[in-house]
Amino acid sequence: MSPTNTEKEQAKSDGSKDEQIEGEHNEWKFRVPYKVHDKDANFKALYEGGCHCGRVKYQLSREAPLSAKYCHCSTCQVLHGAPFQWAAIFHKEDINFTHGHHDLGWYESSEKTTKHKLPCKVSCAYCRSPIMDEGRNMILLFPSLIKFKEGEKKKFDPSCHMFYGNRLVDIKDGLPKWTGLDGKSELIEDSPPELVKKRKREVEEEENEEKEGKSAKA
Ligand SMILES: [Zn+2]
Ligand SMILES: [Zn+2]
Repeated sequence: MSPTNTEKEQAKSDGSKDEQIEGEHNEWKFRVPYKVHDKDANFKALYEGGCHCGRVKYQLSREAPLSAKYCHCSTCQVLHGAPFQWAAIFHKEDINFTHGHHDLGWYESSEKTTKHKLPCKVSCAYCRSPIMDEGRNMILLFPSLIKFKEGEKKKFDPSCHMFYGNRLVDIKDGLPKWTGLDGKSELIEDSPPELVKKRKREVEEEENEEKEGKSAKA
């Protein structure tokens, strides 16, 4: 969808230059999650975050992420230069880039391209701080970039570790630990025992259903 003239006028009055907003290659700047929300519209800014150099700044309108997790997969380890990644899931409508969406860069890890191809990593093109992962429907923000006020951070507490089978460090925090994707792999190490039992039952049920399905077909 092309931006409307009002949207373009708004961008210009906010200081964007013609070459930053005109043309098809700039249309993504007017779509979620990159769209700058109208100042008068009811976007309620509850949190603020930004990259290290300060070129990229954003606000969030949702009080708590839909979910938050630690990911120990090797892609996250390399792309973040860290033993694991902390991600908080939001809707694309929940973010407002108040500054610097012209300074964003992309990376799509399966094709290793810097074109805007989903799902991709989004970072500051100047200081290279990772900003978020943009999925097809959701965004995964990195809460380390948010300036939390007292008591706010706990709303972003992770619910589990995923790809823990690939970990570089042991984290003995009693949270559920999945070997791969959460809910779709095995629970290991110091996962809560009752969850491990529950998961075992689920897997057994799935296997039984599969067997029954096969014998029904036979
Ligand atoms: Zn930056
Ligand atoms: Zn990962």
